[in-house]
Amino acid sequence: MEICELTAHKLHNLLTSKEIRAEEVCLAVFKRINQVEDKVKAYLSLVREEALEKARAVDRKIDRGEAISPLAGIPVALKDNLCTKGLKTTCASKILYNFVPPYNATVVDKLRQEDAVITGKTNMDEFAMGSSTENSAFQKTCNPWSLDCVPGGSSGGSAAAVAAGEAICALGSDTGGSIRQPAAFCGVVGMKPTYGTVSRYGLVAFASSLDQIGPFARDVTDCALMLNAISGHDSMDSTSVPTELPDYRNALVEDIDGFRIGVPAEYFAAGLDDRVRRVIEEAITVLEQRGARVEETTLPHTEYALSTYYIIAPAEASSNLARYDGVRYGYRVEEAEDVVDMFSRTRSRGFGAEVKRRVMLGTYALSAGYYDAYYLKALKVRTLIRRDFERAFEKFDFLISPTTPSTAFRFGEKVDDPLTMYLSDVFTLAVNLAGLPGVSIPAGFVDGMPVGLQLIGKPFSESTLLRAAYTFEQSTAHHLKRPPLTGEVK
Ligand code: GLN
Repeated sequence: MEICELTAHKLHNLLTSKEIRAEEVCLAVFKRINQVEDKVKAYLSLVREEALEKARAVDRKIDRGEAISPLAGIPVALKDNLCTKGLKTTCASKILYNFVPPYNATVVDKLRQEDAVITGKTNMDEFAMGSSTENSAFQKTCNPWSLDCVPGGSSGGSAAAVAAGEAICALGSDTGGSIRQPAAFCGVVGMKPTYGTVSRYGLVAFASSLDQIGPFARDVTDCALMLNAISGHDSMDSTSVPTELPDYRNALVEDIDGFRIGVPAEYFAAGLDDRVRRVIEEAITVLEQRGARVEETTLPHTEYALSTYYIIAPAEASSNLARYDGVRYGYRVEEAEDVVDMFSRTRSRGFGAEVKRRVMLGTYALSAGYYDAYYLKALKVRTLIRRDFERAFEKFDFLISPTTPSTAFRFGEKVDDPLTMYLSDVFTLAVNLAGLPGVSIPAGFVDGMPVGLQLIGKPFSESTLLRAAYTFEQSTAHHLKRPPLTGEVK
């Protein structure tokens, strides 16, 4: 395997035993970027020189005999909705095409403190609204397993970069599935932590009660290392929990003997590709062979998750996106009759179709006369959905399901039909509505395309999920496969 295809923990061992230098790792990743980025188009911007400088600084630390942190010298890519001081943060939107933040998101600072090497900013659906990364205002990212398929979204660039060896790990954000779904489509591990585990300070807000930042990695160990680096209380985000969080490395234990796992029937209903179902059934057998007790359960309000999400998320988005008016930063039209005309033209030209759709939906749902009928009702159903999970967790340690109803689809297949696109997230949305942790791990393949297994846990049970995910991973070999980077480039 090439250097750029290794895991962070393996590279860490090679760095500390002085078998490899951080500069070499960085050069290997940028070499891969040079070779494949034309096809994959995962990045919106790259910071090669800064990355190399950071890598050399890590090498000097090692030379001086200093201890280095687990992510020191590890090339990490960032989704382009994470604010990076002095480095463009566009959210893949024309309205922020030139926005250079004056500060770093907390997660970015935390990674820097760990001496991780930031490689660049990755492509995404505009403002994280979408499931295929086709809503980027700038470019289409291709799935490394088949270049004519989407990488998923909205964090498609981050998932594709990790799968293709263009970064060792990456960060994304997940509001309704945007880490887990692209992780599943690209055959990598992707975790959405419990709401409040990771600071959202400096994450450009989509739907603030649902958004959570999380890692992409090639295996569960790297996922735990990344989570260690980014989690924890932050006084700049009042929704981050003030309690002490565990060292997630302690969860990397190969033992799920006696674990009780629930399989929600609603996640195996109509719409699920039969071949995906079979892969998940095989995964269940593996978990049973490792001593887990798997049983069917039910989450009766699942059928309302999609409509609830598509009231709450757009409602919050319509409010969050009101700030893009062309006044202080970002895109502004040149010609306008007066200030109101300037706002209106700037927003009409600066936002793409999906973003406008959400702003209109959200504004409608929050408007006088409709607020009670839509928004308030959605909040009530959200509580019912959360209670479904609470009831299930009285009996089970965690739940499992397919991450997505199908494997990655082709470009253009769903982009003109919003509802079909929204359905790509039917298995991930409820987890955000309930604020729970969820992780997608490689579970197998259908026609050469990766399938993700989703593990859903109680609030703050990331350690349980990682332990189960680790046990599954160690019993299988899916995470060891690397994509061929073939197919017809669109
Ligand atoms: N695909 C979902 C949406 O379009 C989820 C996106 C996300 O998690 N950011 O809203």
